[in-house]
Amino acid sequence: MTQRAYNFAAGPAALPESVLEQAQREMMALPGPKASILEISHRSPTFKEIIESAEKNIRTLLGISDDYAVLFLQGGGRLLFSMIPMNLLTKEQPSADYILTGTWGKAAIKEAKKLGSMKVAWDGADDKYTYTPADSDLELNPNAAFAHYTCNETIEGVQFPTEPQTGQVPLVCDASSDFMHKPLSVDRYGMIYACAQKNMGPAGVSIVVVRKDLLERSSDELGSYLNLKLHADEGSLMNTAPTFAIYVVRLVTDWLLNDIGGLEKMYAINQRKAKMLYEVLDQSGGFYEGHARQDSRSLMNVSFRLPSEELTTAFLKQSEAADLTSLAGHRSVGGVRASIYNAVPVAGVEALRDFMIDFRDKHA
Ligand code: PMP
Repeated sequence: MTQRAYNFAAGPAALPESVLEQAQREMMALPGPKASILEISHRSPTFKEIIESAEKNIRTLLGISDDYAVLFLQGGGRLLFSMIPMNLLTKEQPSADYILTGTWGKAAIKEAKKLGSMKVAWDGADDKYTYTPADSDLELNPNAAFAHYTCNETIEGVQFPTEPQTGQVPLVCDASSDFMHKPLSVDRYGMIYACAQKNMGPAGVSIVVVRKDLLERSSDELGSYLNLKLHADEGSLMNTAPTFAIYVVRLVTDWLLNDIGGLEKMYAINQRKAKMLYEVLDQSGGFYEGHARQDSRSLMNVSFRLPSEELTTAFLKQSEAADLTSLAGHRSVGGVRASIYNAVPVAGVEALRDFMIDFRDKHA
């Protein structure tokens, strides 16, 4: 069998080894149906138990009340960029506010603008998306249908330390790249959504946590799959659900609950891992230059540059050879990005830290 490397991919990304092992053990046959998860009906009692436990785990981990629905959808983060304005804008409130702290926020507003008049409440473009705004910097419209932000910008590695305050306007959060990395006060949000392939499972499913009263805005005129209320009414089983992806989300949430011991503990581990790498940047005498401002640094994606393209190429080649993989920055920005999601083990981050110190000592 091929030896596993430490995987710093931005998504699809590392999964807990115990989850992969369990999926492997169960791949040929699940106990009830005596068939693989890949081969059974999304309406079978076995899959019903799987999707219900995945939802229950998510509710337990985040302390989600009955005022919220939890949905499992296809189409990734991208489809939600369109579905959110489709469902949440109304005739009375035809406009929404977008807080732009990086590439994904910009992608979200681009889609939303096709559906209504969106307003930019804050845009960090002039400072190359290096930090998140203070509440006092936001130009919010009190009559907006919702206010959207990206709590962790995966490419820039810029993360909000806490959620922005938007008063009565429902806060909608793209948490694709940091969902479940720490506890949240869900009741501060109208909606939180995340594609699974970073912190929650494989590609193919997105998780949506949405306040039930907001679902009343969904118009019957929407195509059925685009209608969030219909998904909630059908328990995310309007059509053939992405069964394997949901099965893995269930295993990942079991791991968070039982192996890690909940999100407070996960948060402590994530803080420890991120600190290790940011300390290397800060103590490198400028050799490694972090993209994000200190107070906006992401615990999930550590984006940084080296003094030259040649050194970046050498860093990526040598790290790959040392089994520290997928460290190239996003194609749009270059440099290096270490994605250290929940499932990246402390030992992997320690190995990367040691590699970085050594590389700097040789090349500075
Ligand atoms: N939002 C964020 C913050 C992301 O990082 C990504 C994917 N990298 C997306 C949205 C888009 O997700 P998908 O590729 O599943 O459409």
